[in-house]
Amino acid sequence: MTFKSAYLKLTLFYVLIIMVISISFSAVLYQISSNELDRGLDRQERTIRDIPQEFQLQQPSFQPDFEKIRLDQLEESSQRLRLNLIYFNLLIFVLSSLLSYFFARRTLTPIKEMVEAQNRFTADASHELKTPLTAMRSEIEVNLRDKKLGLKESKKLLASNLEEINKLETLSNALLMLAKYQEELKLDFKKVELSQLIVEAYEKVEKLAEAKSIKFENNFEKIYVQGERQSLIELFVILLDNAVKYSPANSKISINLSSNKKWAEAKIKDSGIGIKASDLPHIFDRFYRADHSRNKEKADGYGLGLSIAKRIIKLHKGTIKAKSKPGDGSEFIIELPKF
Ligand code: ADP
Repeated sequence: MTFKSAYLKLTLFYVLIIMVISISFSAVLYQISSNELDRGLDRQERTIRDIPQEFQLQQPSFQPDFEKIRLDQLEESSQRLRLNLIYFNLLIFVLSSLLSYFFARRTLTPIKEMVEAQNRFTADASHELKTPLTAMRSEIEVNLRDKKLGLKESKKLLASNLEEINKLETLSNALLMLAKYQEELKLDFKKVELSQLIVEAYEKVEKLAEAKSIKFENNFEKIYVQGERQSLIELFVILLDNAVKYSPANSKISINLSSNKKWAEAKIKDSGIGIKASDLPHIFDRFYRADHSRNKEKADGYGLGLSIAKRIIKLHKGTIKAKSKPGDGSEFIIELPKF
């Protein structure tokens, strides 16, 4: 079903409802008015008949045909009323068609945008899934054609396939996580201590950081927030993992925690490659990856991490912002409601 025909169908449906109400209302109004008119004329006729003879018209020969006058008047008034009601209903029809189309568009446009976003997402996800699968298939085909395939080459093929499988697993995990944090999801909020969660998240990226000799600097204070433990750990893993991924070896990452009356603030600052101003507004979009020509090959990712982070923050009624300059590093600032 195209959205154009859906707009028209919904418009027709709205117009139909309005016209059924308007026509029924007019029919009732017509019936009531005709009865009232009939009764009014009847009363008038009786009053005239009851006038004593001496007050009646001078010519005794003249006897008006009250019944005929009454019927003529009734017919004339009914005709006028019918015509007025038809005009009124035509006006309602024109106005309701315009208004219904406007409201049908207003009702369906958010749904249309959602469907389009979903379609884009499916296309992007399929494309990302297809890339490692195609690579695996062509490698296997080439190796199978080789009649003298030795143990060494076979092992190399298996290792390369395993790499692609790992990529697929990373992608499917990210997709599952994205689906998990739907906007309507109700998380089980509890009192949690922020620095503890950051330490747990740090443990998951520690190996990667050590491999690049990246040092962490912390400035923690004890702050409690209202949150869901696991999802907040996942949020910090995404941010710390990015900070490590996009930083050069031997650099520094600092994590700062502070708070005011209402909000807890966490700042994660790296001195990595930074993000271009033109990329900055899009980094929280699904599948968006800034084009770091030198870095793209090395840092693997699917552009899903920050969109997951944003969903987690939204579920916690917090905010997430990024400040960055190419070459100067990036800073991610999170605000969460305090417990
Ligand atoms: P990815 O898996 O590609 O890292 P993300 O959604 O986590 O996906 O990030 C989106 C993009 O934002 C990244 O591709 C990268 O270009 C940019 N980005 C995120 N964090 C940083 C950072 N700390 N430093 C530089 N660029 C970053």
